[in-house]
Amino acid sequence: MSRQIESVAVVGCGTMGAGIAAASAAAGCRVLMLDISTEAVERGLAIVDEADHHLVSTGLFDPTFATEGDLAKIADYDWVCEAIVEDLDTKRRLFEVLEPFRAEGSVISSNTSGIPLRDISAGLPDQFRADVAITHFFNPVKVMKLFELVPGEDTNAEVVAAFSHFGASRLGKGVVNAKDTVNFIGNRIGCFFMLSGLHLAKPFLADGMSQETVDAVLGQPIGLPPTGLYGLIDLIGLDVMDLVGKNLATNLPAGDTGLAYTAFPPAEQGMLDRGQLGRKSGGGFGRVQKLDDGSRKKETFDLTNEKWRDATDPDLAGVPGDLGEVLFADTPQGSLAWQVFGGTLRYAAGLVPEIADDVVNIDRAIRWGFNWVHGPFEMLDSLGPQRVIGKIEKEGGELPAMLAVLKDTEAGSFYRADGSEYLGRDGQWHPTPPET
Ligand code: NAD
Repeated sequence: MSRQIESVAVVGCGTMGAGIAAASAAAGCRVLMLDISTEAVERGLAIVDEADHHLVSTGLFDPTFATEGDLAKIADYDWVCEAIVEDLDTKRRLFEVLEPFRAEGSVISSNTSGIPLRDISAGLPDQFRADVAITHFFNPVKVMKLFELVPGEDTNAEVVAAFSHFGASRLGKGVVNAKDTVNFIGNRIGCFFMLSGLHLAKPFLADGMSQETVDAVLGQPIGLPPTGLYGLIDLIGLDVMDLVGKNLATNLPAGDTGLAYTAFPPAEQGMLDRGQLGRKSGGGFGRVQKLDDGSRKKETFDLTNEKWRDATDPDLAGVPGDLGEVLFADTPQGSLAWQVFGGTLRYAAGLVPEIADDVVNIDRAIRWGFNWVHGPFEMLDSLGPQRVIGKIEKEGGELPAMLAVLKDTEAGSFYRADGSEYLGRDGQWHPTPPET
């Protein structure tokens, strides 16, 4: 069998597995959907377009892996994609059980959100280690362009090429090359924004800024979606953010700025403990109440007194209209934007080459995975990197690696004005690879 992917076996067809199955079937591939119960399989199948059902087979397996169930059916598929629960031991056990059934020449992957591949594949057979990668799609798979491709140390180049080609050409995704580091690119930076935001917003809330204002400042004025900070976490769920924080606490390298923010502040921890998780639980930082007359009322969970109140309008008075200008505004909103969003830009600028070899992969991951108008380095270019460097230096801060490269080389920007070249960490200009 060649490394060409024409058929896909998805193991675990919850939110992500079903999305991957649906996208693959829509691309004309034969698809196998396996899960641990008939209900789970049916829920997954409902996501697949009815017109593609003739391409789909289904089956069951035992969650304890005591019996093989329909797992042997994977032998008929070119790509085996694991999308079960985010638990290292369960994933490792599944791969051990799957490996003997896999066809020679097939490729295998995990859709984990952030568990390093080296932990998943440690001690597994050489053939598995040569054929495996992380294929990280974003939710909802049908809509989100980002596809992070993460090879392990032993992954064959032809396996990486097969996934890259399939992701771009068959699924129409934007492929980003990430490294085997915790949470890869999108979630490493996106979750830093959210987790650091929860902590850094506290003094502003204590000084009377409303959560509505925090969300509004950390949205459109800086080129982020209107969900801002709390609205975005409500969408994702505090339970998911808690798992992300725990994974970061275990796997971030010593000295990483993100280590200060992996645990929730007390009010947010209280919300998690009560099951006040976000939209999925009927309310998190915000909720919508249905009134007797049929109308709806928006409410905000006030973090300062931990009580529900009516939602208020945000205070954007004095926030400049030009994209990102708020970062330089001498107002509470400006300080908030500089600390939370500016802090995220500084964090991203320190992560080359740790999480990606260049600024291009980071910018694309953030644009395609988090719907920012600009990726971090594109945003720095839009603000004027010299201005940002000046502000950091005025505060006595240390320049992150890529801003230091830009300053040393006097490059002036991370991209040429027409985008044709980007500034490498070697201080040289390199051709920008085409978007896939
Ligand atoms: P989900 O809970 O919707 O689906 C998981 C599926 O795995 C369920 O259908 C469950 O029945 C099944 N399963 C199979 N074996 C199991 C076992 N032994 N124990 C328990 N359940 C078992 O989860 P999801 O959101 O689709 O996430 C799947 C993977 O994708 C996870 O690794 C997650 O981190 C990752 N991921 C999720 C998102 C997201 O936004 N939901 C985004 C990117 C990556």
